[in-house]
Amino acid sequence: MQGKISGVSLGPGEPELITLKALKALQEADIIYCPGTQTKSRSRDILQALPISMKEVRLFHVPMSKDRTLANQTYDAICTEIAALVSTGKNIAITAEGDSGFYSSVNYMFDKLTSMGFPITTIAGVPAFIAAGAISGLHIVKQEEKLVVLPGIVTAEELDSLLTSGHVVVIMKLSQCTDEIHRFMQANRQHEFHYYENVGTLSELHETDKRSILNRTFPYFSLMIIQPHII
Ligand code: SAH
Repeated sequence: MQGKISGVSLGPGEPELITLKALKALQEADIIYCPGTQTKSRSRDILQALPISMKEVRLFHVPMSKDRTLANQTYDAICTEIAALVSTGKNIAITAEGDSGFYSSVNYMFDKLTSMGFPITTIAGVPAFIAAGAISGLHIVKQEEKLVVLPGIVTAEELDSLLTSGHVVVIMKLSQCTDEIHRFMQANRQHEFHYYENVGTLSELHETDKRSILNRTFPYFSLMIIQPHII
């Protein structure tokens, strides 16, 4: 009998923000695959705070680079390992931080395993920007406003065009576009800038003061929500 594979979304960091369905899938899994290294894994930090056994958690380290060759080789090796386990009837969970369908590179593995004949059931999770809105009591988009999410590839001109036409903008992967964000903020102080770091963890930060935001080095787990103020 073939086992099952679940793509389990863990939410942004706060263990209580996992769904009941995701927790159940983790509890039913024989082996849990989790991105990270021995010293650093946001996903493992979440797992450790949940009522599950950590015995069968296997960490995998995915090299981060624009060139995906090395990352894909890592994923290919794990897929081969998972395929062998599932064939012997093991249930596998593959975790992803936030929501697994939202800018998550584990989808490479989901696609690969599906094409190998091992279908994945994915379980929805709370994306980081939604949790960010909640910790700051933000009504992220109201009435007829439109929301645009940008994955760290952005120019000051693009931001200007989106905000002056009334869009609310979420910028993920801020560390990839620090200079452009600075350029935009310096020239457009009228908008409302909400900057977040490590939402749902002990080092969580929400900052709206423009000078303080400009003085920070944006870490990997940071994002911004900009609400338009048109004058
Ligand atoms: N699947 C995730 C997004 C992964 S892309 C989700 O649903 O949210 C990684 C980017 O997400 C980071 O660069 C950062 O911009 C954002 N992010 C993820 N978790 C975060 C957190 N806890 N706090 C702030 N930003 C976070």
